[in-house]
Amino acid sequence: MDMDTYQILGVKFHNVDMAEALQIMEGFLKEEGSHLVVTVGPEMIMRAQEDPEFKRIVNEADLVVPDGIGVIWAAKRCGIELKERVAGVELIEKFAAVLASKEERPGLFLLGAAPGVSEKTAQKLVERYPGLNIAGTGDGFFKEDETAVANIKSSGAQVVYAALGSPKQEKFVRQHGEQAKIKVGVGVGGSFDVISGLKKRAPQFFVKLHLEWFYRLLCEPSRWRRFLAIPRFMLAVAKQKGEAVRKWEEALQ
Ligand code: UDP
Repeated sequence: MDMDTYQILGVKFHNVDMAEALQIMEGFLKEEGSHLVVTVGPEMIMRAQEDPEFKRIVNEADLVVPDGIGVIWAAKRCGIELKERVAGVELIEKFAAVLASKEERPGLFLLGAAPGVSEKTAQKLVERYPGLNIAGTGDGFFKEDETAVANIKSSGAQVVYAALGSPKQEKFVRQHGEQAKIKVGVGVGGSFDVISGLKKRAPQFFVKLHLEWFYRLLCEPSRWRRFLAIPRFMLAVAKQKGEAVRKWEEALQ
């Protein structure tokens, strides 16, 4: 599928809606090799400015969905109406439903978060999507990558949800995806904490007003430093005066 590709402050993303993203990911299962799916938001875009390796990984990823209302806002400022925000946590729930519905029942490995959280996440997902084949689980505080890679490989999983925080999760999938013999690896951030019920999702009131970030800040004030990425992002977008978001092809010229 030819994808509508953009760059924002030099970081790639695809203008896809949820249905298209799911279709593309399903397609990866039939292809050779390992595919990286990134859900990109303002915080990651700002990190990519300072971490060239991370930027390269995102720019070479197979699918980068616009997560976070900041990306939609920035595009609008540049006269581009994106299809929709594709929230990471929703994407991985919906893709779990796709996996559960497939006759061959591809295995899903849940890697990340504190000990016990991936197991609880697996339990919740299987309750919601009966037939989902959980090939294995593991926490995100392993000492050697090799151990995690060997566990994934021996589980026979075709898909890994990596909840290691960014950029660790994207680097992990890029570096080890082939060796772990996975077809799709998705960086899912703090999603296991939400799905397992460890952390509450923001109430609808906050979601409707696009203030999920504010709710999270209220719950976890220690994260305030990370939230500074948001005003920095807005400033960087404003500075580029309508040029912050452009077609990927144009950016290459
Ligand atoms: N995490 C992990 N290993 C690490 C660091 C973090 O498994 O070495 C987990 C953490 O427990 C949390 C998730 O990664 O479940 C996402 O962390 P964070 O909220 O920092 O990332 P974000 O969602 O903002 O990307």
